[in-house]
Amino acid sequence: MSAFKKMLDKKLSDSSGRRWLFVPYDQLSDGVGPLAKEDPKSLGIILVENTWKAARRPYHKQKLALILANLRNFALEQADRGVAVRYVVAHEPYGNAIEKVIPETGPIRMMTPAERELRADLRGLVNRGDLELIPHEGWHTTSKHFQESRKKGPPWRMDVFYRYVRQQTGILMEKGKPLGGKLSFDVENRRAWKGAPPAPEVPTFPVDPIKREVVDLIESGFSHHPGELDLHRLPGTKSDAQNLWSWAKSECLPYFGPYQDAMSKGSSSLFHTRISALLNIHRLLPAEIVDDVLGMDLPLQSKEGFIRQVLGWREFVYHVHQATDGFRTLPTGKPPVAEKPGDGGYSRWAGKPWPDKWSRKDPDGGAKPSFLGANNPLPQAFWGTESGLNCLDQVVSQVWREGYGHHITRLMVLANLATLLDISPRELTDWFWIAYSDAFDWVVEPNVMGMGTYAVGDLMTTKPYTSGAAYIHKMGDFCESCLFDAKKNCPITNLYWGFLDRQQESLKNNPRLRMMMATLRRRNTSLRQYDQKVFQRLSKTLKDGTQFTPDSLPKP
Ligand SMILES: Cc1cc2nc3c(=O)[nH]c(=O)nc-3n(C[C@H](O)[C@H](O)[C@H](O)COP(=O)(O)OP(=O)(O)OC[C@H]3O[C@@H](n4cnc5c(N)ncnc54)[C@H](O)[C@@H]3O)c2cc1C
Ligand code: SF4
Repeated sequence: MSAFKKMLDKKLSDSSGRRWLFVPYDQLSDGVGPLAKEDPKSLGIILVENTWKAARRPYHKQKLALILANLRNFALEQADRGVAVRYVVAHEPYGNAIEKVIPETGPIRMMTPAERELRADLRGLVNRGDLELIPHEGWHTTSKHFQESRKKGPPWRMDVFYRYVRQQTGILMEKGKPLGGKLSFDVENRRAWKGAPPAPEVPTFPVDPIKREVVDLIESGFSHHPGELDLHRLPGTKSDAQNLWSWAKSECLPYFGPYQDAMSKGSSSLFHTRISALLNIHRLLPAEIVDDVLGMDLPLQSKEGFIRQVLGWREFVYHVHQATDGFRTLPTGKPPVAEKPGDGGYSRWAGKPWPDKWSRKDPDGGAKPSFLGANNPLPQAFWGTESGLNCLDQVVSQVWREGYGHHITRLMVLANLATLLDISPRELTDWFWIAYSDAFDWVVEPNVMGMGTYAVGDLMTTKPYTSGAAYIHKMGDFCESCLFDAKKNCPITNLYWGFLDRQQESLKNNPRLRMMMATLRRRNTSLRQYDQKVFQRLSKTLKDGTQFTPDSLPKP
């Protein structure tokens, strides 16, 4: 018997007469919902450790370990409080697994899942009245806030939503006006990082028998999953989550604002907090995070910059996902939906298919919008095959090492390059979902399809976030050790112009691109032809899984 099972069995209390709750992998908190409000001794929780979920995609090993270690430790923590715990190990969809326990528990409640995929899985039980959905109290705002922030409906804008939420909550407001005289200090938060102040050392966490067992389990049963597994950097308990947050407050937040957009090959987070995965599984609660930061003595630009991320962006993307049913219903119509989960290009890279053990179509593989018509396969470079583009290679290696990367590396290196290469937004989304520990459908789909690739047009952003080498050169240190010269021969700049050229028709009415389109028209014809040649040559090289060097550049 496993060490975890033995520890749990010792703590189990009498489960008769309890009211049962299903607590999924991403609601691991007793700070909200029935676990916060009702007598622990009147409650029972069902936790499901599910190999079916783990096998749906080739998830990063560190992500699997994070979920498993927290799920198991949460079981023990709740048993210590006197909550009855039913810990189910399942190899099938959650709906089937829960259905089997209902004859013994009777009807079950749960807070409405944030993931659409889980809602779809449980739909049958909800429709039959076996599972009652109650409001998810882990969010700061409700869909009513979202709708009231823009009564006209889409397109939605984060700044409009954020302004509304600031006004409604009074957060960082004084006499109805934003503190410091403006709502956002974003334009002041664009400093490059030159090595000082030093980047904080990423914290480590104590190793306990649960984590050790989880890591052994993954190394034996899930060894075919990609990514590095680091036992010492695995926050798996409630106190690990608090320690990470204490570290973030003292080491990161004082410098969060100014260096928010900076990137470095030496640090995947710089002054970012690394809390997203723990926020998304509710080991940390957004409301507590925001309260803590409001009480801190911080420069206003850092305080506002951080609060905008949690209160603004995070809640905004969640509501956009809900309002569009995971982008299945768009103002422009209904995009196609993938029948099965995609593997983000794993099979092409690994040379073998990802085993598909479950043929049921529901939950499906997600919506496939592509406003710009992009449909190319994701290059193997995203799986670690060297591309020769140092920015891409460095960021990809950080991700496979840690299951993490901060916002700007995701947006301006990975999504930018994928967009410039006309990569399928769905395949890129699946890759992000697989590679990042903090990825769940409600957050990864809007960020990749909405913000990163413009796959849903102007539904939530005003223009595609694309750039040539100048931005990467200015905001990061990757170019210093690259084979290319950002100012002379970097192919990303040609990709950028080539992209605008190919997308002239779809982007012609975009007011924010008017100036760039005018510059493009002034670019001489041979240069524009050269841009397309670079696009073709680089696309082919990456598709073949070979390295692009200055010698690979076509002759002008
Ligand atoms: C292409 C792309 C894909 C992304 N995929 C994910 C994802 O799968 N999961 C995820 O949580 N975030 C995602 N993000 C948003 C953001 O990059 C991460 O939340 C952030 O980098 C997490 O690191 P951190 O905790 O150090 O964040 P910090 O910079 O310290 O920010 C604090 C918190 O703000 C929240 N936040 C900030 N921006 C966003 C945003 N755009 N959407 C949602 N929350 C936000 C996060 O909870 C984050 O922990 C993505 C962004 C892009 C551009
Ligand atoms: S020179 Fe170009 S390819 Fe190399 S790191 Fe800089 S932006 Fe990336």
